[in-house]
Amino acid sequence: MLFDNIHGQESAIDTLRHALASDRLGHAYLFTGPAGVGKKRAALALAQVLLCEDKPHAGCGVCSGCVSVAARTHPDLIVVMPAAGKRDVTIDQVRELQRVLGLRSVRGGKKVVVLDDAHLLNPAAQSALLKILEEPPGDALLLLLTVNSATLSRPLLSRCQQVRFAALPFPVVEELLVQEHGKDPATAHALALYSRGSIGRAVALDPQVFTEERQYAVKEFQQLRGAPFTALTHLAEWLVADRVKKSAASDQPNEGRASGERLEIMLSWYEEVLRYLLLGQAGVVRYQDCLPAVAEAAAGLDVPDALRQLTLVYDTIQALGRNANRQLAVEDLLIQLAARAR
Ligand SMILES: [Zn+2]
Repeated sequence: MLFDNIHGQESAIDTLRHALASDRLGHAYLFTGPAGVGKKRAALALAQVLLCEDKPHAGCGVCSGCVSVAARTHPDLIVVMPAAGKRDVTIDQVRELQRVLGLRSVRGGKKVVVLDDAHLLNPAAQSALLKILEEPPGDALLLLLTVNSATLSRPLLSRCQQVRFAALPFPVVEELLVQEHGKDPATAHALALYSRGSIGRAVALDPQVFTEERQYAVKEFQQLRGAPFTALTHLAEWLVADRVKKSAASDQPNEGRASGERLEIMLSWYEEVLRYLLLGQAGVVRYQDCLPAVAEAAAGLDVPDALRQLTLVYDTIQALGRNANRQLAVEDLLIQLAARAR
């Protein structure tokens, strides 16, 4: 089965396999989980299983049905996402979907709808979609994919069966980077360390840019103790600046690169300082190559100090997610860290 190509999501895939095996596939599913962990891949695999012409209910991967699903050109596969340059899925798009679902399937089988970035459905579009979900056409399967179901209305959520996708285990990310993305093992290892379990996120990182930024960041963090205000302002500017978008061809426009990425270098740094205090050198995972710097940063700190620093960085990243004034929030963070560091 094509689900075999999905790695690190056993629980989610088992749910779908069981539904298929017992012939109890629902009309609508909501796949939730972080960006870049395989939700879309799983949705397309399920579409292949359902639209396969040679092995219905299994999927073969090579018939015209399976191939055209993979290429997203199958006439009974409908992918809905925000139009180019738009930030939401509109009611007109959902009405068009409703019209298509009212027609017979082109190849006589099921119609599979993949609604990517379902959190971008605006309220009117959600209401229109709810109408479809209240009386789903018998031959249609709707798959809603989202990183954040909090923006979806309760009635809409109640009409979907939820399937949770978890962050991928580190070895899975590392292996996928080598096998499917052609990275050499050392680069794959380094990128996987910063992937937070998302292959999409790891692929979006440009190894060279990332390495340079990391070096710069570590140097700055080392000089944070008692640094003058102008230096803190300068560092804050750098931390909140948009990264050079070298990987503009990435198909993850709304995810990962939006904000706070350089701050996550900072988050990982303070995580490592804490790990060093708790576990010693062996506890340092992502900064093994800068052990002396980590040791220096940890010198004179106790575990509660390190935990407080880490919490400050974490809280600031969370606050940026709520559209706080980025520059001011990060300056404030740096002032606190510079004062705290002994
Ligand atoms: Zn097939």
